[in-house]
Amino acid sequence: MTPGFLTQVHHDIREVVRAFAHGEIAPYAAEWNAAHQVPLATIRAMGPLGFLAVAVPEEFGGSGLDALSLCVIVEEIARADAGTSTVIAVQNGLVGAPILRAGTPAQQHNWLPRLACGEVFGAYALTEPDAGSDTAALRTTARADGDGWVINGTKQWITNGGFADLFVVFARTGGPGAKGVSAFLVEKGSGISVSNEIPKMGLHTSSTVELVFEDVVVGNEQMLGAPGQGLALALATLDGGRITIAAQACGIAQAALDLAVEYAGTRMAFGGPIAKFQGVQFPISDIAAKLDAARLLTWQAAVLRDAGQPHGIAGAKAKLFASSVAVEAANVAVQTLGGYGYSAEYPAERYYRDAKITEIYEGTSQIQRIVIARDLFGDSARG
Ligand SMILES: Cc1cc2nc3c(=O)[nH]c(=O)nc-3n(C[C@H](O)[C@H](O)[C@H](O)COP(=O)(O)OP(=O)(O)OC[C@H]3O[C@@H](n4cnc5c(N)ncnc54)[C@H](O)[C@@H]3O)c2cc1C
Repeated sequence: MTPGFLTQVHHDIREVVRAFAHGEIAPYAAEWNAAHQVPLATIRAMGPLGFLAVAVPEEFGGSGLDALSLCVIVEEIARADAGTSTVIAVQNGLVGAPILRAGTPAQQHNWLPRLACGEVFGAYALTEPDAGSDTAALRTTARADGDGWVINGTKQWITNGGFADLFVVFARTGGPGAKGVSAFLVEKGSGISVSNEIPKMGLHTSSTVELVFEDVVVGNEQMLGAPGQGLALALATLDGGRITIAAQACGIAQAALDLAVEYAGTRMAFGGPIAKFQGVQFPISDIAAKLDAARLLTWQAAVLRDAGQPHGIAGAKAKLFASSVAVEAANVAVQTLGGYGYSAEYPAERYYRDAKITEIYEGTSQIQRIVIARDLFGDSARG
């Protein structure tokens, strides 16, 4: 399905990433997931291919492509393995993007080329044990001290945190509320305590940890963007990141659809393939239609972003819809495979566990609905 959104460049990128995912990720995904292993060597190999800094200009070592290209890349990687695509989504959308948006020239020249080639991995540390959806409630503090800041607090569920070299950290530098938050670029080794991996339902090829900051000292030059503008930067970053997660959801849904179609065509029951039964066909047909719609919503949001137009609402709609399609597609795949769908012999159960996260991170589905409702109802949608 390739309507007018994609240029020849996007098609070419898709061929390259599809071949890489088919050869270097898909054959090992089951093994990596069973071992809870982040495939770092494979992820580093994506640096020279340009997948680690897709929309970063070439002058900073990036690929100089666009958000639509990132969607194509993340979808194909997620189709092979969702957890691996999360690493790519964070490196691009939650670390490279805010540095490109708000970084000083020195910060951009220092970090972007190293993020692009895979020398450095990044993590985005916004969520706290008591501040998830309610981001403005975050309590981590950065206290002014001489020429710098001293950071104290705890960040939870931080993707890539187990191996990241660079953390984009949001901390309170002023009073309460949204205006009191600033962003910082904090390096590994500056005193951050990193927890063991947090056991989770799926996404076993991605790292998720808790970070504890105890008197972590950073210089003024490590502030990312203006003082008090941290939360605005965090939310603008998520506006773009959600498009990437929608693409990830499309990739998981495509993998589930492929599996269901293939299995239904070969599994024999009552004298023929189960694909002859409408009870098997129709849920799969529904997924095929919904996946096309999800992908179009995702690409539409990416095209708006690439055109420099507001894309927060479009991204929220894309993530809301695509994530629900991923969950439904994985469920249909498990059902189509029957008992085999429930066993680890086939990847349907992995898709089922991995799909769910797309309804939770970078803003839950309820939060996406709130974003859409505020656009529809204005101030009257605020409680
Ligand atoms: C695997 C994983 C990776 C993650 N990676 C990162 C990361 O790299 N960096 C990072 O900063 N965070 C990360 N997160 C955190 C993630 O973004 C949050 O978990 C998510 O935003 C929800 O926050 P919460 O878990 O605190 O849930 P809560 O905010 O406590 O929400 C609990 C429930 O209440 C609902 N709810 C809350 N407020 C409202 C409301 N106003 N109206 C209706 N319903 C509401 C929510 O939708 C949800 O269903 C990750 C989480 C996971 C699980």
